Amino acid sequence: MLRVNDIEVIYDGAILAVSGVSLAVPQGSIVALLGANGAGKSTTLKAISGLVRAGRAALSRGSIHFKGQPSTDTSANLLVQQGIVHVLEGRHVFPHLTVEENLISGGFVRRPGRQALQTGLERIYAWFPRLKEKRKVQAGYTSGGEQQMVAIGRALMTNPSLVLLDEPSMGLAPLIVQEIFDIVSQLNASENVSFLIAEQNIPVALKHAHYGYVLETGKVVLSGSAEQLLQDSALQDAYLGKR
Ligand code: ATP
Repeated sequence: MLRVNDIEVIYDGAILAVSGVSLAVPQGSIVALLGANGAGKSTTLKAISGLVRAGRAALSRGSIHFKGQPSTDTSANLLVQQGIVHVLEGRHVFPHLTVEENLISGGFVRRPGRQALQTGLERIYAWFPRLKEKRKVQAGYTSGGEQQMVAIGRALMTNPSLVLLDEPSMGLAPLIVQEIFDIVSQLNASENVSFLIAEQNIPVALKHAHYGYVLETGKVVLSGSAEQLLQDSALQDAYLGKR
C-alpha cells in the first residue's frame, strides 16, 4: 500500500529532521512509528501526506510510492483524493463549528452528493456513537477524547485507504486512549483501512499494531513485528523502563 524509501527531510535548509527513513505499510495493516519527542515521526508523516512540500521543509532525498505509483511529488490535496488522509498532531478541529459540521468539512474534500454525505455521517456515527450524541455541540466544547474522535471521523469522511494518525493518545486519559485504539483496530479489521500511527505511547501502540518502526534522531533504529518489539531488550531499556 505504502512504501517509503530512504527519505531525508530538511527544515529551513539547515535542520536535518529525517535522515534515511525507509518503511512499508502493507495493505490492511496497522503500523506504528515510535519514538521520543523530536525523533522525526511527525515529519515522516508530513512527507508521506504531501505537507512537507507545502511548508518550510524540503524532501531532499528518497522516494515514496502509494498503491504502486510514485507519490513523492504529489500534492497533499491530490493525495487525499487518492486515499491518504493525515490526522495531525493536536487534532485541529474547528472549535466554533459543531461536531457534525466538522465531519461534513471532511466529506466535502471528495465533493459528494447530499446522499453520500449522509451515508458517510451515518458510518462515522456507527463507529463513534459519542459523536452522534454530541453532533450539535460546538467541537470546542467537547472533551479532548471527543475532539480526537472528531479529527479521526473527519478524516474517515474522505473515504481513505490509508490513515496517518499523529499521536492520537496525546493528553488523553488511558481509558479514552484505549477506546480510540480499539475503534482503530475494529475499523482496520472490518473495513480494511490501513493505519500508520506515530506514537510515544509505545505499549498502547504495539498492543494494536501489527508492525512497528522505532525512530531516533531521524533514523530507524529498530523495526519488527509488534510481538518482536515488545520483547526487545533494547526497546524495553530505552522506552518501557522494564529492566
Ligand atoms: P513530536 O512528537 O514532538 O512531534 P516527532 O518525533 O514527531 O516529535 P518531529 O516533529 O518530526 O518529531 O521533529 C523532528 C525534528 O525536526 C526535531 O529536531 C524538530 O525540532 C525539527 N522540526 C520539526 N518541525 C520543524 C519546523 N517546522 N521547523 C524547524 N524544525 C522543525
